[in-house]
Amino acid sequence: MCEETRSLPSRRGLLRSAGLAAGALGATGLLGAAPAAASPRPASSAEGHRTKVVLVGTSGGPIWWEGGTGRAGVCSAVVVGDALYLVDLGSAALHNLRPAGLLGPGEGMNDLRHLRAVFLTHLHSDHVADYPTLLLHGTSGGGLGLPGRPVHVHGPGDRGALPTVFPAGRPVPDPVNPANPAPGTVAMTRSLVAAFATDFNDRLFDTNSPDVTTRVRAHDIALPDGAAPGGAVPRLRAPIDVYEDDRVRVTATLVDHGQMFPSFGFRFDTDDGSVVFSGDTTASPNLVDLAGGCDVLVHEVIDRAWVEESIAGLPVPEETKEGYVNHMIGAHTTSDQVGKVARDAGARRLVLNHFVPGGLPDGRWRRAGRGFDGALTVGRDLMEIGVGRRRR
Ligand SMILES: [Zn+2]
Repeated sequence: MCEETRSLPSRRGLLRSAGLAAGALGATGLLGAAPAAASPRPASSAEGHRTKVVLVGTSGGPIWWEGGTGRAGVCSAVVVGDALYLVDLGSAALHNLRPAGLLGPGEGMNDLRHLRAVFLTHLHSDHVADYPTLLLHGTSGGGLGLPGRPVHVHGPGDRGALPTVFPAGRPVPDPVNPANPAPGTVAMTRSLVAAFATDFNDRLFDTNSPDVTTRVRAHDIALPDGAAPGGAVPRLRAPIDVYEDDRVRVTATLVDHGQMFPSFGFRFDTDDGSVVFSGDTTASPNLVDLAGGCDVLVHEVIDRAWVEESIAGLPVPEETKEGYVNHMIGAHTTSDQVGKVARDAGARRLVLNHFVPGGLPDGRWRRAGRGFDGALTVGRDLMEIGVGRRRR
């Protein structure tokens, strides 16, 4: 890779993710190009806004959900004028970039020259499965970043320890890749480039595609002093500085996603307003602090009844099922909890994403509005949400 750096020093899934074995841009594109696909898309509330959130994918979990959910893996975009930022890269989400109007006008290419940065909340597969796709297809035709202006990818570093075996008493398995069992964002990026070198070099030599190592720069987000896996997530007195350019300032906090540490929530502050992404977390006081007074809070959600029903069918003793439910709920936020998070944060609008399961009707998620006086949006792929005031 090109120079690998750490972020600025701090100033201040589903069954499987829980360790259980059973388990837009209005009518025009970002740079003025009309969306190429005619896929149905929700009505936009972003008309006239310079800054907007686009829900690229809204499904949670490493599951190919039953039925036609219309939800790709979780991925969100923040657009500020002609600058693009992505949060998480869930499975198949990048197929939605074109119908979402988020590609530039480059003909016959995946034009992501205006993509400035990517932020990975954590390294569960349902949040990074399309990262190889971004590297591989993004550089096809020369469309990823610009010469001298690589795309910055910020995410967790090496956690430095394996998770605790769950449930307690289960034999400790041999870890995968024991020499480096928990690579962070920088190491993962380096390994992906090495794994796909055949393709990268074919396109570099045969079709003059850009050298991916000059177009992507990975960063491990530095942790606050004392933060480590295996214990309670520490309360942060101030957010972590992650990224800043002339359009956005991005800060992070540590959220509570069970054993998956570190996991981050991100806040984007722009001249137009603020957007916060929870990442995967149970109801998190740190996230409430980070989201204080924000215009848009994009928050994960799971359905508790579905969790209970799923675990009820597991081939485990009845007495262990309650523990499994608590383990799962302890790493995510239910539709009965998320409204209080938004209320405590004083968010103006709550947007739900990362739906688990992916196939429930929207009406079942509206209970999330209980206890929250602001606006509630049940997210859908390709949905656009304007941020702050309209400019025209
Ligand atoms: Zn997760």
